[in-house]
Amino acid sequence: MDESKKKELLLKLEASQTNYRNQLPSKISNIEETWDNLDKNTWDEENFKTFHRLVHTIAGSSGTFGLPEVGVIAREVEVLVKEQIEKGGQPSTQLRKQIIDGLSLLRATTNVCLKKNTEEKPASNILTKQPLTQQSHEDNILIYLVDNDEKLSNELSTQITHYGYTVKYFSTFSQFSEAIKREIPAVIIIDILLPGGDVCEFLENIQKDRPTPIPTIFTSETSDLTTRLKAVTASGVAFFTKPFNVTDLVDNLDKIVEVDDYEPYRILVVDDSVSMSQFFSLVLQQADMETVVVNDPLKVMEPLDDFRPDLILMDIYMPGCSGLELAKVIRQQEAFVSVPIVYLSGETDLKKQLAAMSLGGDDFLTKPIQPEHLVLSVTSRVKRSRTLRNFMIRDGLTGLYNHTQTKELLDLEIERAKRNNSKLSFAMVDMDKFKLVNDTYGHPTGDRVIKSLARLLKQRLRKTDLVGRYGGEEFAVILPDTDGETANRILNELRIAFSKVSHNYKETVFTKTFSCGVAVYPGHKDGTQLNNAADSALYEAKESGRNRVVFAKPE
Ligand code: GH3
Ligand code: MG
Ligand code: MG
Repeated sequence: MDESKKKELLLKLEASQTNYRNQLPSKISNIEETWDNLDKNTWDEENFKTFHRLVHTIAGSSGTFGLPEVGVIAREVEVLVKEQIEKGGQPSTQLRKQIIDGLSLLRATTNVCLKKNTEEKPASNILTKQPLTQQSHEDNILIYLVDNDEKLSNELSTQITHYGYTVKYFSTFSQFSEAIKREIPAVIIIDILLPGGDVCEFLENIQKDRPTPIPTIFTSETSDLTTRLKAVTASGVAFFTKPFNVTDLVDNLDKIVEVDDYEPYRILVVDDSVSMSQFFSLVLQQADMETVVVNDPLKVMEPLDDFRPDLILMDIYMPGCSGLELAKVIRQQEAFVSVPIVYLSGETDLKKQLAAMSLGGDDFLTKPIQPEHLVLSVTSRVKRSRTLRNFMIRDGLTGLYNHTQTKELLDLEIERAKRNNSKLSFAMVDMDKFKLVNDTYGHPTGDRVIKSLARLLKQRLRKTDLVGRYGGEEFAVILPDTDGETANRILNELRIAFSKVSHNYKETVFTKTFSCGVAVYPGHKDGTQLNNAADSALYEAKESGRNRVVFAKPE
């Protein structure tokens, strides 16, 4: 797809989002009327099916249009209706009540969410520097768990900790309300009916003074309408009725925290003018981006490899080499074919702008450029290109790097290690007797176990470590700047942590282990050697009894 097509598509997408929001209230009214007609007037099988279809559409679409909370509620109603359709006949009084309650909740949630979205701060406030997350990813992510059921909380807390979160547990309202005055967690998990105060009212008060609300997961013994409504109003991002599946809750935590998304945008600024480049760089840094400045265009290649920019901001007229020529050279390299390039120049001549675009540059901003405009342009381009790129380099089930990308990253990291004269460890991880999981509990459960190992690896490793899904239940981990001894310690910690994670299938709880083979650069000199050595070590780990880490001897 060419750039102009993509742009057109994105514009259309935004327009359709607005359109959807505008029409949603009347769509809900239509659903309500259809139901009223069924419930109060004449029962009609066909109309009931229409009703189902209407609810089904909302369930499927509102998430896409930025209203996931509405989608969740609609889905709940849809499930009730669908079961009845399959059974045939009229719904019981009890089911009717459930449907009516569901529809009220749907209406209320829609109102709350539409209001929330219009109240959001305009994007131009971007320069007033707000941290993207309450806590940086370097720290362990802090979770507040608030519940007076100590037994359940202990279990929950242990499981969440295995995934690399830091949990602080409070069993009473007063403990919690004191703590939150001193320290803001990344996420709150709280029993909505906790005795000692009105949880929702208290949270609403805290949230209203914050630039972004603290994401809150509510748990509850009951899921009646009033309780659910209170949760929505208090900015609850998820609602779990006890007893719930811990893995589901952790899944939700991950989505809320979304580790990858918060990696700061990396922008390479290429401009011969020191003052201009510094200005651009500062503006972007203010908006939480990382920048590297190159003033000599002939030295652009080095930071490219090391810094791996998400976007290049490029001056056109520079001594020695024009930005247009430089773009050509950069694009000749496989790894940088798709990095967006934005030209910055005083050039207003349209013909030249067009020439720049056809050379693979993605956009053209004319100086002088407003800081807000710069930040917004860069942000939207990086966001788009990261999304597109993610499709290419990530594995759909786990979100980890796919096989091809992992191998490419390994080569890049070996190059870097060579340059810096440092060590690098490469590990292959394979789940033990995984086929048994599929055979015993079914493939979907197997998928969940794969996801949970992926999550554990992602959460527990450093930000500089790279994790890929190599094959079905096999993973690869690249640990830059890490010698064998350290790698051994880290992988064994991971191995033990994973063996303690509980997985569920219906009422059954089970655990799994993995085996691991490790090889270290420069003992093994290139990607192929590291791969083969780690693979043989993994084989040895399996042969000698599984659930262990084995090292490959250097060549
Ligand atoms: P071991 O490695 O300990 O020797 O035993 P194993 O049972 O794990 O053996 P092997 O690695 O040969 O089998 C892997 C199994 O993983 C085979 C396949 O059924 C299953 N598998 C592969 N990919 C997926 C997937 O994406 N989802 C699920 N659920 N299962 C998968
Ligand atoms: Mg296996
Ligand atoms: Mg395998």
